[in-house]
Amino acid sequence: MATAAEPSPAELPLPGGRADARVKLHPLLTGQMIGPKAWFLREPGRFAWRRAFGLGVKRDDWMDVPVPAFLVEHPSVGPILIDTGFHPSVAAKPQANLGRLTTMTFKQLKMKPEQAVSAQLRARGIEPAAVKFVLMTHLHTDHASAISEYPQSTFVLSAAEWAAASDQGEFHGYRRRQFDHGFDYRLLDFEGPGAGSFSGFARSFDLFGDGSIRAVYTPGHTRGHMSIVLRTESGEVLVAGDAIYMRSTLADSHLPYRTEDDHLFRRSLREIRQYATETPDALIIPGHDFEAWRELDASY
Ligand SMILES: [Zn+2]
Repeated sequence: MATAAEPSPAELPLPGGRADARVKLHPLLTGQMIGPKAWFLREPGRFAWRRAFGLGVKRDDWMDVPVPAFLVEHPSVGPILIDTGFHPSVAAKPQANLGRLTTMTFKQLKMKPEQAVSAQLRARGIEPAAVKFVLMTHLHTDHASAISEYPQSTFVLSAAEWAAASDQGEFHGYRRRQFDHGFDYRLLDFEGPGAGSFSGFARSFDLFGDGSIRAVYTPGHTRGHMSIVLRTESGEVLVAGDAIYMRSTLADSHLPYRTEDDHLFRRSLREIRQYATETPDALIIPGHDFEAWRELDASY
């Protein structure tokens, strides 16, 4: 299929790093929805799929789900995003951007236009065009929804994720129209010889060569998922993305209904657990856990 995007390999380090840099991290809530508990925490039995898709599920068995993105301020690189959250159009017409499958499984979507990342950036005096880099944990619809808002940014993601999103369709959580733009996409080859280990993670890249922002490979949720480790002014933070939906995903190894690969998912969980053991003071932020979300500070 013809595609507008022509990604190229990332050349590391990305420009702008500075020795001993520490970043500031601002978690941003871009919207919320409710989803079936059984989607986030796998249930046993033949009819688990029905419950995972919310069929015949009582209101009590749905849970509030945050849709986050993150602003990272690097002292010499400038503003960087992790994921894009919901596109502003989702506030009025969710299905046009997110597609039918996402809006069928998740309900009561709530978003105010001012929750879009671009609006939250402007409210802080940052023009969206000033965002140099957007690090994509993966390209699922709730993370890639607002890619079109950053035509001047360089997008960084794993080569395996690009391949997965390009091959797999809506049933796997992707929508090509969200990411198929002639933008500057740079791919990280975690499977190649350039990736090194970092703490519990077997494959990682120090993106700016200054230790402030590392991409660590956590496939399983999708074929090419990555998480981000940040050295902030108040300590280390792992933005886990959907490698762990909930705190209990990690604490109890409770897998979600859907993974692309259970074996890889479990391996990534073990690596995150090892990281947590080696870095007990690190804050670990799961992808879609409202309880954990509400406990976050405004910035780190
Ligand atoms: Zn996802």
